[in-house]
Amino acid sequence: MEADPLDDYRYVGARRRLIESIRGEGIEELELLRLFDRVPRHRFIPEGMLHRAYEDAPVPIGYGQTASQPSLQAFYLRLLDPAPEDRILEVGTGSGYLTALLALMGDRVYSVERIRELSTRARAVLDEMGFQNVALMVGDGTIGWRKFAPFQVITVAAASPQVPQALIDQLADGGRMLIPVGRRKVQDLLMVRKVGGEITTESVREGCTFVPLLGRYGWAEGEAGSS
Ligand code: SAM
Repeated sequence: MEADPLDDYRYVGARRRLIESIRGEGIEELELLRLFDRVPRHRFIPEGMLHRAYEDAPVPIGYGQTASQPSLQAFYLRLLDPAPEDRILEVGTGSGYLTALLALMGDRVYSVERIRELSTRARAVLDEMGFQNVALMVGDGTIGWRKFAPFQVITVAAASPQVPQALIDQLADGGRMLIPVGRRKVQDLLMVRKVGGEITTESVREGCTFVPLLGRYGWAEGEAGSS
């Protein structure tokens, strides 16, 4: 990632306060906290929402979607713990902010987003920031991205009625996936692991609310209701 000429002193203090609030949520790993300092979140947030760029809260990014809460993203990254050689699948590019954090941790990130405008915006920001290890695709992430499978890490940022079988199939042996699963309004965040071909599933956080995962193995558009 290149030094950011558009970073601004106004945001430095806000970013430090965000990091304090992530620490307040129990994330103490310094290397992880440093990543949140390196990536200027405001670059990924639409202009009208810039005043909220460093809130530890979901922020609207248009098209009925949100950039996820940073402390929740830190929780994801701590549990998934991508290694430098890992190939990562992200379902739900959204703003591209988590994509950037993942790209600093792993080898290559393959990120799928169903809303073309969001993917295009994320691509522009990631390019401006000099990321060269990120591939974006517009499409249905519930079917994964078979061409580049298997993935050591899969992260899903939208809620599904079940764990899509295609994503389980595309998980590498030794791989791990985080995905919110449950009813439309409330879900559990599940950690799915594949070891020696065996799948284990564990709930790591209960009572979450994510936007719906819409697609072949997620919710059908009519079923999901408004978010
Ligand atoms: N990590 C993103 C961020 O911080 O900006 C999260 C974005 S939002 C919580 C979840 C995203 O998942 C939305 O942009 C939504 O359009 C996308 N999404 C929903 N269903 C999808 C699907 N089947 N395939 C790909 N993306 C999907």
